[in-house]
Amino acid sequence: MLLYISVLLAGIYIHIPFCKKKCYYCDFFTSQNLSLTNNFLLALFFEINSRKDYLLADKIIETIYFGGGTPTTLKSSEIELILNHLKFNFNIPPNIELAIEANPDDLSEQYLEELIKLGFNRISIGIQSFNDEMLALMNRRHNSENAINSVENAQKAGFDNISVDLIYGLPKSNVDFVKKELESLLKLNVQHISAYHLTYETNTIFGNYLKKGKIAELPDFESQNQYKYLTKFLEGNGFEQYEISNFAKNGKYSKHNSNYWLGKEYIGFGPSAHSYNTQSRQWNVSNIKNYISEIENNKYFEIEILSTTDKFNEYLITKLRTKWGVDLERIKKDFGQEYFSHLMNAVNKKVERKCFLTEKNILYLCKECWFLSDGLILDLIYT
Ligand code: SF4
Repeated sequence: MLLYISVLLAGIYIHIPFCKKKCYYCDFFTSQNLSLTNNFLLALFFEINSRKDYLLADKIIETIYFGGGTPTTLKSSEIELILNHLKFNFNIPPNIELAIEANPDDLSEQYLEELIKLGFNRISIGIQSFNDEMLALMNRRHNSENAINSVENAQKAGFDNISVDLIYGLPKSNVDFVKKELESLLKLNVQHISAYHLTYETNTIFGNYLKKGKIAELPDFESQNQYKYLTKFLEGNGFEQYEISNFAKNGKYSKHNSNYWLGKEYIGFGPSAHSYNTQSRQWNVSNIKNYISEIENNKYFEIEILSTTDKFNEYLITKLRTKWGVDLERIKKDFGQEYFSHLMNAVNKKVERKCFLTEKNILYLCKECWFLSDGLILDLIYT
């Protein structure tokens, strides 16, 4: 007889809002005022202690992810204090995925060894480019030498699950430029790559440059060519594309991010962090001073109760961008016939019908069409 043990798993996200410098393309919530670190940590500990009941069942924590901002602006002793508060309040087994985002020029050998001692087993390094001119244009803190050293230091310290972030579609770049970037990356022998096309957000320096004509967006065909080259190159070198922007070797997916896409619960701490417990979504204020001043009044977040339509649309948006696709049986079971019929009608009406495949009751967007996924999925949304 088979014995099935059902466990409910969830993730924890910690948002560290500090960056020593603002990158010109970035619209994440960050602060350069590092003098607020102590007060931020006190507010964060308060939030962790006060929200231990947010997750709906007695969830076992499967992943902890330190993101930002730049978590590596913190000392390892400060990170240890955060971990201690989490362990005190949540059910955290040993050997979970404990991941941290890092800036290359923070990663000395000593700092990396301290992270390993704290139990971190995955590191995501924001390299973005190996071209010094491009790094300077983006106002990054590091150069290509720092980038290479950071990965080598991480390997020496004992990290065997290293992810690197890369940006393509950069100003005036072409496929040859992307080829050189990928060749530099491949030499580093990392297990995971997140590759994002540059976007010009309005409230960034790059957005402003674009408006003033100081910088130009690449034509669509150039962006698509770079995407096609990148995906083919990475797949040809043993990386599996498991989400539109994410590639892993030997199944070393980001467990934390995959759990978002698979609809599992998570709780986010810190300014601008989001939380989700299957019934509602909530997000903390994107302002560090307000976060600190309002934490004890419980006025530092907003909450939205999710309707069936919200849940259906979120399920589509996240799953169609992954290799797991949309489970049509689950659509019928969890959302009902009306939503199922809506989805199938919308898919069948699409001019790009060939972009959608159905196999064993799973609806996929074929990988060649992932680059166009935003527009394709938008038309399937239930309104
Ligand atoms: S280091 Fe990351 S979070 Fe900080 S400004 Fe640059 S891109 Fe944004």
